[in-house]
Amino acid sequence: MRASIIGTVARGFSILIDGTQSLVRALSASLPYLFNANPNTLRKEVTEQYPDPVSSRTTDDLPPRTRGLVHNAIEQCIGCRECAKACPVDCFTIDSERLEETQKEWVSLFDIDHSRCLMCGLCVDVCPTNSLTHSKRYEYAATDRKKMVESFGKGEAPRRGDYP
Ligand code: SF4
Ligand code: SF4
Repeated sequence: MRASIIGTVARGFSILIDGTQSLVRALSASLPYLFNANPNTLRKEVTEQYPDPVSSRTTDDLPPRTRGLVHNAIEQCIGCRECAKACPVDCFTIDSERLEETQKEWVSLFDIDHSRCLMCGLCVDVCPTNSLTHSKRYEYAATDRKKMVESFGKGEAPRRGDYP
């Protein structure tokens, strides 16, 4: 009976010592951050406040392969619709017509619905003229999904004799 009481007390002390050691280890790791002690020996901060009014970072500081909002340099676009065929979620609405005088495609309507976009990059990969790219823009929150549709089209085709 006496032996079992001593065993129980010993186990209790052992657990107490383990717990105290864990607490000391945890505090010794976290307290220097709390009081900003020895900044040279601490790991650098890797998180960024967002939006950060102090940081001088711009979108140009993002990695070169950043997939931001899809952008169309419409003057290079030939209206082939390869992007629309590749897009798995139907982001594109395109309308175009061939101008008789120039025999070139006039892309009057080119809308991208960013609210649907998965940033998969398939459209960019298949674009034969490289007019489609991922920009580094990433802020496009809106309260109305219709406001997340961006238009790149040239509008109504010019009248005959007035072609560019
Ligand atoms: S990145 Fe993907 S989801 Fe977004 S428009 Fe292109 S193909 Fe569609
Ligand atoms: S794939 Fe490129 S060139 Fe063809 S319609 Fe799309 S953006 Fe224009």
